[in-house]
Amino acid sequence: MPNSCKPSLIVHGGAWAIPDEAVAAVHAGCRRALEAGREILERGGAAMDAVEAAIIVLEDDPTFDAGTGSHLNRDGRVQLDAIVMDGSTLEAGAVAAVERVRNPIRLARKVMESCEHMMLVGAGAEQFAAEQGLPLCQPEELIHEREKKAWGKCMGGNHLSEFHFSHQHGTVGAVARDAQGRIVAGTSTGGTCCKRPGRVGDSPLIGCGCYADAEAGGVSCTGWGEAIMKVVLAKSAADFLRSGQMASQAAQAAVELLARRTKGTGGLILLDRDGIPGFAFSTPHMAYGYVAPDGSIVTAV
Ligand code: ASP
Repeated sequence: MPNSCKPSLIVHGGAWAIPDEAVAAVHAGCRRALEAGREILERGGAAMDAVEAAIIVLEDDPTFDAGTGSHLNRDGRVQLDAIVMDGSTLEAGAVAAVERVRNPIRLARKVMESCEHMMLVGAGAEQFAAEQGLPLCQPEELIHEREKKAWGKCMGGNHLSEFHFSHQHGTVGAVARDAQGRIVAGTSTGGTCCKRPGRVGDSPLIGCGCYADAEAGGVSCTGWGEAIMKVVLAKSAADFLRSGQMASQAAQAAVELLARRTKGTGGLILLDRDGIPGFAFSTPHMAYGYVAPDGSIVTAV
């Protein structure tokens, strides 16, 4: 592994039909996440810390479907999923269907670093959080007024598409490469709106919503989980990188695979093993941003 590499960082805030009124908040959220991660990487910090810090910013921002402000499930509750993966060791930690953890990405990291298993769900995951000293919150603290209203309309309208799709917002993710060349990817989500209690999508599943391998690169996905799982989208994108495709080509090829084989829509961000960013999406928009080679921040929807 090279002694000193140029650090790289890319984030996303979900692939969805971002309404005009949300655009400014989405840009601002991605920027703040990139600033938090960049600050760590610039002082020689670890890719793992940068990914965690960037995702915590996005989880705490109710603009995004992760952490506080996530979509409500049919029972009117928030159930959160997250994963983090270290491309140097192929170790990963994941949690699903947690209701009392404000920052599931922190818990996913604890699972990776301090648990004999790779994935914990529900009450068992929350028990592990408590054992690890992570504070548990009340489930209601994760509920945002906007989501409560949207949920009421959606359920009352029997999931009519004008209610169901008009309030969708996005999963979050980050991929970083630090000065030591370590690549880490992470993804965090509240899942799809009005999902069945207990439903888990692609996001916390290794190879589906997230993958990292120092020999190929790191990937974080967003979009329709039931389709993304079928093509193991993050691993597929990493395989395109491994086969020698450039970052942007690999991202595009993965999204095309998703469309061709499942008719599903979504998007992804990635860094190749040299830290070159790539992204692609088949939804009307995807919120994303990256640190450019000159250190400046670029965000887009
Ligand atoms: N992929 C997420 C899920 O299916 C949702 C999203 O990315 O918007 O849970």
